[in-house]
Amino acid sequence: MGGERKFRAVRGVKDILPEQVAAWRHVERTFREVFALYGYGEIRVPIFEETALFARSIGETSDIVEKEMYTFPDKSGNSLTLRPEGTASVVRAFMENSLDKLQPPVKLFYMGPMFRYERPQKGRFRQFHQIGCEFFGVAGPEADAELLQMVHYAFDRLGVPGLKLKINSLGDGECRPKYREALIDYFRPLAEKLCENCRRRLEANPLRVLDCKAASCRELRREAPRTGDFLCGDCGNHFQAVKGYLEEWGVPCTVDSEMVRGLDYYTRTTFELTSDRLGSQDAVAAGGRYDELVESFGGPPTPGLGFALGMERLVLLLPEGAGGGERVPPVFVAALGEEARRIGLRYVTELRRKGVPAALDYDGRSLKSQMRRADRMGARHVLILGDKELEAGRLLLRDMSTKEQEEVSIGSAVERAANLNRKAAE
Ligand code: ATP
Ligand code: MG
Repeated sequence: MGGERKFRAVRGVKDILPEQVAAWRHVERTFREVFALYGYGEIRVPIFEETALFARSIGETSDIVEKEMYTFPDKSGNSLTLRPEGTASVVRAFMENSLDKLQPPVKLFYMGPMFRYERPQKGRFRQFHQIGCEFFGVAGPEADAELLQMVHYAFDRLGVPGLKLKINSLGDGECRPKYREALIDYFRPLAEKLCENCRRRLEANPLRVLDCKAASCRELRREAPRTGDFLCGDCGNHFQAVKGYLEEWGVPCTVDSEMVRGLDYYTRTTFELTSDRLGSQDAVAAGGRYDELVESFGGPPTPGLGFALGMERLVLLLPEGAGGGERVPPVFVAALGEEARRIGLRYVTELRRKGVPAALDYDGRSLKSQMRRADRMGARHVLILGDKELEAGRLLLRDMSTKEQEEVSIGSAVERAANLNRKAAE
C-alpha cells in the first residue's frame, strides 16, 4: 500500500484554518459592504483562461508572463494558465457578455485565489488571494479619485493604521512613447550594468527597469527620467485633477514618480498602498487606469481602472482579534447516562433548529471533563442532565460566566437556554 507516505501542501501554498478564516471573512464582509455602497456588483470569473489572454494583456515582457505563470497544456493540447491576476479575465468577461453595451459605468468586483510561480517568502505565495474591482466607462479624473477614496475608506473601516498611498501617472498613448524613448536613451549606455533580465528587455520594455528589484538596477535608475516630466497636457491635467479631488476629500497620498507597476496595461494613474509593517513585501494593494486595454482586445474604446489587494498581507495588518466577534458561542449539553444522552442529542438538534449553535460530548465522559470541554469551546451556557435530573423531570442550566445555576423543566429547557444564549451573544 505504501501507506507511510505523508503528503504536504505544495510549496508556496497555504491552508487557511478556521481561526484565521474569521479575519478573512471580516475583510471580505467589509469590502462587500463598501463595494455595495459604491455601486459594484460581484463577478465570478474562471480560475483558468487561455494563456494568450494573460500574455497579451499583462504584457509578454512583464515578470508575471515571463517567469511567474502556471501554464499547462490540457488534454487536447490547449495552453491554459491559472490566473495570475483578475483584470484580464474581468475584461474578457466584460466583452464576452456584452457588458460593454450597457449604459456606463459598469462596476464589478471579485474575490478569489491567484497563482504565480514566485519564490515563496513572507507575504509572497504561489497561491494567494485577492479582492479587486474594475470600473469601466468613465474617463474623467472623478473615477480615479473615487476609486482611491473607496480603497482608503475600506481600509479605514478595517482599522488598518499607517498605510501609505503612493500615486503616479504613466501617461497615455500620446506621451508614453516619448517617455519610453527617453528611458531607452538613458539606460542604453548603462546596459552592461543592468541585470540580465533588464538588459534583454530594455528595448522592448524599458519601464521594467524602474520596477526591477535587483540592487544594480535600483542604483542605476536613481537619475533616470521621471514620468512626471513627460506627461502631455491632457495627462498632466488629469493627474492634477485627481490629486485635487483627493486633497478636497481628505484622502492623504504622495506622488511617487518612480512607481511604474509590473503590468503593462496601465495608462495614466497608477497607485500602490504600502505598509512599513510588512517588511520587504510591503505592498498591500495596487492598481491603476487602463484606458487602452478593452480596445486592444477588439472591444469598443472603453476607459477603465481598477485595483487589487493581497489578502495574505492585509490580514497581517488587522488589529488583534479582528472578526473574532462573529462567532456565537454554543450551548453545551452535558449529559450523563444513556437515557440522558438520548435526550441530550435531541436537545442539540432542537437548539440548532432554532438557530442556536449547540454541542455535546460524543464519548460519554465524566461530568467534570464535559464541563472542561464546554469551557474550552467558550460555551456561555451548559444544560446539565443526568439520570437523577431525568427522574425529577428537571435539569440544571448553568451560566458559565457567573457560575450560577437554575433549575428548568425538561419541557422548557431548550427554549430557556436558547433565549439566554441569544441574549448573551447580543
Ligand atoms: P509585488 O511588488 O509585491 O510583487 P505586484 O506588483 O506583483 O506585487 P499586483 O500584481 O499589483 O502585485 O497585485 C496586487 C497585490 O496582490 C499586491 O499588492 C500584493 O498585496 C498581492 N500579491 C501579489 N503577488 C503576491 C504573492 N505572490 N503572494 C501574496 N500576495 C501577492
Ligand atoms: Mg509581483
